[in-house]
Amino acid sequence: MEDGLEAPQTLTGLVVDRHSPLYDEARKDYNTGLRPFFPKYIVYCYDVHDVRNAVLYSRAHHLPIRARSGGHSYEGYSLVDGGVVIDVSLLRRVELQPDCGTAVIGAGAELLPIYQELWDRQRVTIPGGSCPTVGIAGLTLGGGFGLISRRYGLTCDALRSLEMVDADGRLIRASAERNEDLFWASCGGGGGNFGIVTSFTFQTFPVDKVTIFTLRWDWTDLRSVVKAFQVWADPRALDRRIVPILKLTSQLAGQVAVVGEFVGPPEELRALLAPLVGAAPPRSVGLKYVDYIDAVYFFAGVAPPPPELGGLTGLLLPHPFSHEQHEKFKNSSAYQFDLFPDAAIDTMIHWLSIAPQPATLVQLDAYGGAISDIGDHATAFSHRRGVRSSLQYQAYWESNVQAEENIRWVEGFRRAMLPWAHAAYVNYIDQNIRRWPEAYYDENLRRLLRVKRMYDPHNVFNFPQGLGQLVR
Ligand SMILES: Cc1cc2nc3c(=O)[nH]c(=O)nc-3n(C[C@H](O)[C@H](O)[C@H](O)COP(=O)(O)OP(=O)(O)OC[C@H]3O[C@@H](n4cnc5c(N)ncnc54)[C@H](O)[C@@H]3O)c2cc1C
Repeated sequence: MEDGLEAPQTLTGLVVDRHSPLYDEARKDYNTGLRPFFPKYIVYCYDVHDVRNAVLYSRAHHLPIRARSGGHSYEGYSLVDGGVVIDVSLLRRVELQPDCGTAVIGAGAELLPIYQELWDRQRVTIPGGSCPTVGIAGLTLGGGFGLISRRYGLTCDALRSLEMVDADGRLIRASAERNEDLFWASCGGGGGNFGIVTSFTFQTFPVDKVTIFTLRWDWTDLRSVVKAFQVWADPRALDRRIVPILKLTSQLAGQVAVVGEFVGPPEELRALLAPLVGAAPPRSVGLKYVDYIDAVYFFAGVAPPPPELGGLTGLLLPHPFSHEQHEKFKNSSAYQFDLFPDAAIDTMIHWLSIAPQPATLVQLDAYGGAISDIGDHATAFSHRRGVRSSLQYQAYWESNVQAEENIRWVEGFRRAMLPWAHAAYVNYIDQNIRRWPEAYYDENLRRLLRVKRMYDPHNVFNFPQGLGQLVR
């Protein structure tokens, strides 16, 4: 074997191949709209030893490797034909270290169980995304935006250290003091590039009650709502305790809404919303003061376990934007740096009015606050200081025959908006973005490539939009 590494005789852990009854389930991505993948092995690792073995075994047999945590890659980049998927989803322990205000979280933990555990044990949390089943590894390594991010930052901003199995099967630790280049690159440089993370240590934040809110307008008000929203959600001026998300659906679905979370009571939020409500009066305003964990369930689009369910349902269900309703999808992204002129809003109206079917939308997540306290080069996540909002173009469909027109619509919309919204978020990874290295990483690309050469010189960790594509 290369470099004299000792190759294990067999894979260890729960090993699934095409003869196993688990194979079809194990080779699925969350996005069932993707083509099927046929890995040679899917290895569910029970511990670091299994991860190490899988890396060394794959290298010895010249098999391509993919790391997998929650399996939510938009393009299925945690799967590979004929190779080995090293799945860490069984490494999902959440251990609180109360004296340090930190939590050690296994790299395969899903978001909802993490939030629930941290809440139940100590009324603390980490800033993360809303989808209940997204894996902590993919989310953190690509950045991680969520409903308290303007207050507490991105998920990667709360990261204090990590453990990773490298291409030689060594367990390495990275933090601001140790392997600091690798740590820098792991805060937004994207999953799957340097090694296989087995655990993360995060700073936790105390949480108690929050106000969740929904404002709705008629679709015909779309122009005035976008104008009012972008002025109100000024990244420097808007109170950092609010994360507002503007959702503009297709004309066919006919919804314009701002949903969000405020770390504070409703009376204060009402005053903070007043300028938006004054500039574009909504048809309805719903505010609810809830335990933080109930807000987590609200934005996850899943019902909280009883008895917490009582009282939330009026605002919650049916949830028009629940992630869990959609399995086949195409999403892409861009960032807004300046106020949109009329021409940009005209373009949005045009694309939303020619959407192929109702379940299509563009979503604007307001940035600023704690996200922009950190410089664009201080971590690998580069889209911070000048960003007003992150746009996500989204299409969801039921039948495979609808795939092409929906994918074309997302790409057409993204391209049409390029004069006013460019770059992209690596966690909303999109194979159609041709200049993806610049789009995801901007000026941080050069340093990321240096780290790649340093920690994975043989390009063992590679995938279609991986940094390994650029160092061959
Ligand atoms: C329904 C839905 C909702 C979402 N909501 C949000 C949101 O609110 N906020 C947000 O920021 N993002 C959100 N995302 C995007 C999400 O952050 C990315 O899709 C993320 O990459 C998924 O991580 P994963 O571990 O679940 O996926 P995976 O497919 O397992 O992994 C994604 C990438 O990370 C790599 N990777 C996985 N595990 C490891 C590991 N242990 N070590 C090294 N590399 C690894 C994979 O190889 C792959 O390249 C959402 C996605 C979906 C599908």
